[in-house]
Amino acid sequence: MARILSGKEVVQAMAPGLKERVQGCVEAGAQPTLAILRVGENPSDLSYERTACKRAEALGVGIRSIVLPANVTNDQLLDAIAQVNADESIHGCLMFRPLPAGLDEAAACAALDARKDIDGISPASLARVFTGAGYGFPPATAQACMHVLDHYGVQLHGARVVVVGRSLVIGKPVAMMLLARNATVTMCHSRTEDLAARCREADVVICATGRAKAFGAECFAPGQTIIDVGINFDEARNLCGDVDFDAAEPIVGAITPVPGGIGTVTTSTTMEHVIHSCESALGIA
Ligand code: NDP
Repeated sequence: MARILSGKEVVQAMAPGLKERVQGCVEAGAQPTLAILRVGENPSDLSYERTACKRAEALGVGIRSIVLPANVTNDQLLDAIAQVNADESIHGCLMFRPLPAGLDEAAACAALDARKDIDGISPASLARVFTGAGYGFPPATAQACMHVLDHYGVQLHGARVVVVGRSLVIGKPVAMMLLARNATVTMCHSRTEDLAARCREADVVICATGRAKAFGAECFAPGQTIIDVGINFDEARNLCGDVDFDAAEPIVGAITPVPGGIGTVTTSTTMEHVIHSCESALGIA
């Protein structure tokens, strides 16, 4: 039986410190405030927005919703981002992606001020993750993986970590963060040969591929820690991760569930970044 690395437990552990920091900001003159920039009515964006609003409310973080129609032009989107950048009462901005077809996502990401880019989408934020220099936040999901590993005391220094997936949202940034903690990191992707063998060799496996239940018993070994980042739906339309939980759980040492794992911690991490951004603006970080 594996230890279940519950995201809820991590969220509960983070909450008192985050609430205290919100209070510190309010006493210093500003309520940490997150702008949620949504283009169109994508159901998964709406669902994440509801979750983010609930978590923000629980922590005392303010929310400003900016909703643009799906047929918005690039110029109108860039105008909205410029307004967020200029508004001193907004400390962070979460822009849902992918943007509807036809919009220049790279230009929109680059337009967001790195100080407000609490989800690591701008080139400046990513430069910070990769070089350690400058200012910016890592993508919240990558940071959430680190929070879970740290909360449960998973040894990273010297550990062999396999990261499957090389997107700029999760795979690449989390690999950089693990390297910074002296893990020995192997990055795998769709062209990796004998992926199951690479996974079995690791102390920690981070699965971020977006393939429902694709990692079965053949990928795992006793004692491993498994971080399942995937948010997918199985054939029965039930929410599931990249890992076949029922196959992996009897083998490995510890595993994050889906739902209730990394996704849960991502929302709190987003709020943590907003609070940090507000503290920086107030000069109390
Ligand atoms: P992307 O589609 O951008 O990247 C997927 C990665 O997985 C690619 O690098 C791809 O490799 C790799 N991959 C695909 N198929 C295979 C395969 N057969 N074997 C090995 N590697 C493979 O996805 P994201 O990184 O954006 O998201 C990954 C997952 O994480 C999704 O399920 C998403 O829903 C979830 N997610 C969860 C969040 C959370 O808060 N928990 C937040 C954001 C995303 P290649 O580069 O070779 O194509």
